Amino acid sequence: MGFWPKGYKSCFFLSFDYDASSAETWKTPDDLSSLSKGRYAPRVAIPRILDLLDRLEIKTTFFTPGWTCDNHPDSLADILSHGHEVAAHSYAHEKMTELSAEKEAEVWEKSMAALERVGVKPQGYRAPYWMFGERSINHMKRLGFKYSSNMMDEDMPYMLEHKGKPTGLVELPVEWLLDDWPHFEMDRMGPEEVYKLWKPEWEGLHGLGRCFGLTCHPECIGRVSRIKMLERLVSEAKEGGDVWFPMGKELSDWTRKKLK
Ligand SMILES: [Zn+2]
Repeated sequence: MGFWPKGYKSCFFLSFDYDASSAETWKTPDDLSSLSKGRYAPRVAIPRILDLLDRLEIKTTFFTPGWTCDNHPDSLADILSHGHEVAAHSYAHEKMTELSAEKEAEVWEKSMAALERVGVKPQGYRAPYWMFGERSINHMKRLGFKYSSNMMDEDMPYMLEHKGKPTGLVELPVEWLLDDWPHFEMDRMGPEEVYKLWKPEWEGLHGLGRCFGLTCHPECIGRVSRIKMLERLVSEAKEGGDVWFPMGKELSDWTRKKLK
């Protein structure tokens, strides 16, 4: 008996980090061009991604900074009306482990309030830049979160412990290899090259019956040539019909049920 529900052989956890221009508001507040880059997401990429997910019949999770909710509420409504999950991703893409305790607490309050304004009580949290510390674990417990998606020590979901003690949180692990941003936006690789990075990792994990967690950013992956590559990767993974494509909250609930 494998780990996954309904006899699925493996799991493909596709998720999006809907940063929009949140980080640029404090990194480059006077640079209009830099600020505009994130707007490609609500204007172009999100509709394109929602259309793709509809065609593929997949529901996914959008980890979304509070700033994005406050500045693009219609886009959030669109994502939610398509049946996708919205989860937490700070307020303005802060580097949480570099903030004071007071400042981090403030960011959590602002993030939760902004999500609430679009009708979301988040179950999951992914830290900006995956800068994730003990204080965040404590805030997550206090605020009733169910899962984290921050650790890089596994390719299966698991129950997260800290200092040898259970946190009560499920962990959905991640890795920079399976993140679109460094390959496309930093290393300037082409879609075919990135496909060649991701495809063998997918095939290998599928063969082992494990979990492939792919993190994408709308303003990055939403470019036509790149989203075509994503469509190819996901369509090929779907072909055999033996792969589970859950939202984060489904993957978290299932893991808790299996491992508790
Ligand atoms: Zn982000």
